[in-house]
Amino acid sequence: MKSKNIKIEKAAGTGFCFGVRRAITALEKAAAEQGSIETLGAVVHNRQVLQRLAGLGVTVASTLDDVKGNTIAIGAHGVGPEVAGEIKSRNLKIVDTTCRFVHRAQSVAQRLSQSGFFVVVYGDVNHPEVKGILAWAGGNGIATLDAQQIAGLKPLPGYIGVVAQTTQIPANFNQFIKDMVDIALRRDSELYIIDTICHDIRRRQESAQKLANKVDLMLVVGDHTSANTNRLAELCGGLTKTYLIETAAEIQPEWLKGHHHIGITGGASTSEDTITEVQDRLENLRNRSIPA
Ligand code: SF4
Repeated sequence: MKSKNIKIEKAAGTGFCFGVRRAITALEKAAAEQGSIETLGAVVHNRQVLQRLAGLGVTVASTLDDVKGNTIAIGAHGVGPEVAGEIKSRNLKIVDTTCRFVHRAQSVAQRLSQSGFFVVVYGDVNHPEVKGILAWAGGNGIATLDAQQIAGLKPLPGYIGVVAQTTQIPANFNQFIKDMVDIALRRDSELYIIDTICHDIRRRQESAQKLANKVDLMLVVGDHTSANTNRLAELCGGLTKTYLIETAAEIQPEWLKGHHHIGITGGASTSEDTITEVQDRLENLRNRSIPA
């Protein structure tokens, strides 16, 4: 059967988010001016982007001890105050590409901690952004995705401030807050909640869900290690058959079998070029004979 009747549709708002675009522009500029630039860890979680930047002279230093030059770039995920202090004490020049939404979450965590709140960061404890936010709370806090972990604290802190990793799913954060309210009300604690989820992520998730509700197959394009890409796949996967792919080459022709409407969306660090390649390959496969 010819599959030319398969409809292919792209979600609104794909391509780099504001923070990633800004970070890439700053690195390209620094590399062009200095010949090369080192970043502390991967500046974004996307292999294709890192490969392209490497070609322009942007290299990754895993730790500050690995830095060879006199300038270091901090990625969109930001760093904690100890790392920032260490960079200063080594007299390294900084190209700071910390996203303003991450910066806000860091400032909020610091402010809450300084005001006597125990800071709960709703997020993945192993993610660099979360580690940085928690570090700005000065050790007075915890990162978790499970409210029961807070319930288990003995004693439960009297004043608890809650913020979120910028890329978390708003509905899941809402549920976490409801659970936190239940815990706090049982134990006389006071809660202060600040929503620090990024606006781009909120819009991206909404448009992906809207499309996933209409299609019978969804492709989420992005790095397998990217937190926000995984969230998109999680959300779409709850609504329709979904695959997470890094590049167009990963699409298997059999995936199209029996499907009539295919949706495409991408993570915040997935370039529009990669999305276009996925769209082109789907259109190519659509025009081939695929058994029904
Ligand atoms: S996803 Fe949001 S918080 Fe993260 S870099 Fe992009 S704009 Fe900033």
